[in-house]
Amino acid sequence: MYDVIIAGAGYAGAVSARVLAEKGKKVLILEEREHIGGNAYDEVDEHGVMIHTYGPHLFHTSDKKAYDFLSRFTNFIPYHHTVMGNIHGKFMPIPFNLNSLYVAFDKEKAEKLEKKLLKAYGAETRVPILELKKAKDPEIRELAEYVFENVFVHYTMKQWGYKPEEIDPAVTARVPVITTHKDGYFTDTYQAMPDEGFTKLFEKMLDHENIKICLNTNAFDRIKLKDGKIFFDGEEFNGKYIFTGMTDVLFERKFGPLPYRSLRFDFEYHDVSSYQEAPVVNYTVSEDYTRISEFKKFTCQKDVAGTTIVKEYPRAYEPDSDMIPYYAILNDDNKALFAKYKALADKYAGLVLLGRLAEYRYFNMDAITSHALEMAEKI
Ligand code: UDP
Repeated sequence: MYDVIIAGAGYAGAVSARVLAEKGKKVLILEEREHIGGNAYDEVDEHGVMIHTYGPHLFHTSDKKAYDFLSRFTNFIPYHHTVMGNIHGKFMPIPFNLNSLYVAFDKEKAEKLEKKLLKAYGAETRVPILELKKAKDPEIRELAEYVFENVFVHYTMKQWGYKPEEIDPAVTARVPVITTHKDGYFTDTYQAMPDEGFTKLFEKMLDHENIKICLNTNAFDRIKLKDGKIFFDGEEFNGKYIFTGMTDVLFERKFGPLPYRSLRFDFEYHDVSSYQEAPVVNYTVSEDYTRISEFKKFTCQKDVAGTTIVKEYPRAYEPDSDMIPYYAILNDDNKALFAKYKALADKYAGLVLLGRLAEYRYFNMDAITSHALEMAEKI
């Protein structure tokens, strides 16, 4: 009856479902939650504020193909995202840039460092903090130590439970030091938010006659893997099974649990029109939470008087709890453990692992969109 069965209705599942459905494949999606959209899901809270239930999602990409694909299902409103660091009560643009220099230091020192940075790296350059720390010039190295201490080390310890040098360098390189006077969290060509939210985008993407969705359905109850074969409701299934959940769970944690990082979100409603001076404020040296996001500042909602914010408390993911695994923790040991599960998965010709959880990777929304587009084309 179905050519493709997909576990999970987040980006990986929904994008591949749409592409395959348009090619005439009959697609069944099994989604454990009571809603589609994965962690990009958004909804209106009891105060009328549009919130991102699983934490702030900001869309940005330089990949025209991914942008064009998603644009078929939403109008994107241009939105330039800014983040401020709260550093002992001083507010500083993040990523740390030439403007941040003038908040951190007196004018004379800031000017000197600005000249040195521009000479060493050129204008508009993204320099990862771990690279900046290796600068030849001792004053740039001293600046790097300042940024490392005040922006990265405590935040990263909170977020990951590891120091910046103990995790994959690509993670901290996501938020480099930038030799620019333009504030902004991203430097991508397209920076925009879906005008009616992400859930609506997913509803439109999944609205196709060849796609059937079963919500509140645990894929493990209906799909079993055994000896290289896939069984659906007890019968051998010869189509493709796209799995977007946790790969260790798919194989009953045979080699032990893959570590993930989870988060606790504390939402607060405040009866004021604005709670903080930026859409997101990162607490890089203090507090147990990493950041406070104020939704209406980035969903661009106008028709609401009060404001809802969320504080993010990172924590270790505990297997078999009701915690949500948000991030793979990328280090050599964990990658090696994942490789063992991947080797098992490769024994199933019909099985495709796709997405942040299943591939144990850090995908942004645009990256998983383009990856799922390619994977679906291949299938
Ligand atoms: N980071 C940091 N301080 C900041 C912002 C980011 O140390 O103020 C580091 C931290 O390790 C974080 C990583 O850079 O996990 C990537 O940040 P990003 O905001 O991209 O993370 P996400 O929004 O995906 O959680």
